[in-house]
Amino acid sequence: MNHFEYRNGEMFAEGVPVKRIAKEVGTPAYVYSLATLKRHFQVFDRAFSAVPHIVCFSVKANSNIALLRAFAKEGGGFDIVSGGELFRALRAGADPKKIVFSGVGKKKDEIEYALKSGILMFNVESEDEMVTLNEIAGGIGKKAPISLRINPDVDPQTHPYISTGMKKAKFGVDIKRSLENYKKAVSMPNLEVVGVDCHIGSQLTSLSPFVDALARVREYLDRVLVGSLKREGVKIRYLDLGGGLGISYKDEMPPHPEEYARAIIQGLEGLDVTLILEPGRVIVGNAGILITEVQYIKETDEKKFVIVDGGMNDLIRPALYGSYQAIQPVVEKNSEKIVADVVGPICESGDFFAKDREIARPRRGDLLAVMSAGAYGFTMASNYNSHPKPPEVLVDGDQYYVIRTRETMDDLIRGETIPAALE
Ligand SMILES: *Cc1c(COP(=O)(O)O)cnc(C)c1O
Repeated sequence: MNHFEYRNGEMFAEGVPVKRIAKEVGTPAYVYSLATLKRHFQVFDRAFSAVPHIVCFSVKANSNIALLRAFAKEGGGFDIVSGGELFRALRAGADPKKIVFSGVGKKKDEIEYALKSGILMFNVESEDEMVTLNEIAGGIGKKAPISLRINPDVDPQTHPYISTGMKKAKFGVDIKRSLENYKKAVSMPNLEVVGVDCHIGSQLTSLSPFVDALARVREYLDRVLVGSLKREGVKIRYLDLGGGLGISYKDEMPPHPEEYARAIIQGLEGLDVTLILEPGRVIVGNAGILITEVQYIKETDEKKFVIVDGGMNDLIRPALYGSYQAIQPVVEKNSEKIVADVVGPICESGDFFAKDREIARPRRGDLLAVMSAGAYGFTMASNYNSHPKPPEVLVDGDQYYVIRTRETMDDLIRGETIPAALE
């Protein structure tokens, strides 16, 4: 459910006509609905109310500090994958005790920053990382709370680029070697083992991979870890199941968060842990759109192209994953339907939002909304072809706020200098 709806043929974001936003802030622009964001967060959070849990929003899905603030106010924590995301979360008012730090390549300065900030735990992905973490923690007189990210070797049945829990992926440690890894961690004086973690992929549209992954982690916990670690005086307090629940971009039918929660809660029965969840896409994906203006229509013998002012620099998902994004007119018209590619201005043939898509024939200057653009939209935007990044707008009822201004030409060259030798 979201709050982008037509009234008398015109698209509204909550109580604000999308056309008005386009006119006032220009295009392309990202528009988010606060009511949708909050609702998605609350539905997800409440689904787990039967068990101790923390919903740690995955910052990489949408890292605007206004959104992060909204989730922090709802009681949410954050899953971060870099020092930059930690900075954003703290700026947004996050409680460090609800921040988990994931990622295979944490650098020393990022680790030190997170340790000094007092985050809840590091989701450690290799033995080498443990060594580094132990050294840095010792150097500043702290103990680093860790959980081990286990690779359960489960096929999430999603796009290969966003599959992370199969044997050949770079993520996590082999489940069979995890006891060895845990023992090593326990032997390191500046690490404190507090949990176990896995994250198997993104945009999952069925329950079974989640259930399988949990069952594998669970089986291993019960059979090997709990007993062995207990003897070492260690208790697993947190079980982090990552994120990955999918959304409907077109006709996918992902499980409802309540169904997902039921299955997971069932799988946890008898375990005395706090559950950590790291949802990203399911919270923000359908809470945002990208509005773009039609610049030109071009027809060749072969094809029709609708050329818009947004491109792969603003929203890369179609180019990167070949993914489907619905495209809707901001003002509905009863014009004839055409089949066209909707493409951007970037000098790459991969720069498209849709291929061979049936849409109402637009005219120059018409506005289109690329739907489901709230997750992995702005966060993956770049300045390729030297386009300033688009603004982000947050709608709240019949008000809207620019929560990030459009970049300027000066922003494009910020930090660049011409050396004296070239003067
Ligand atoms: C990307 C990521 C998430 C969020 O995934 P979604 O599919 O957006 O829910 C959660 N945890 C980790 C470790 C991630 O890398």
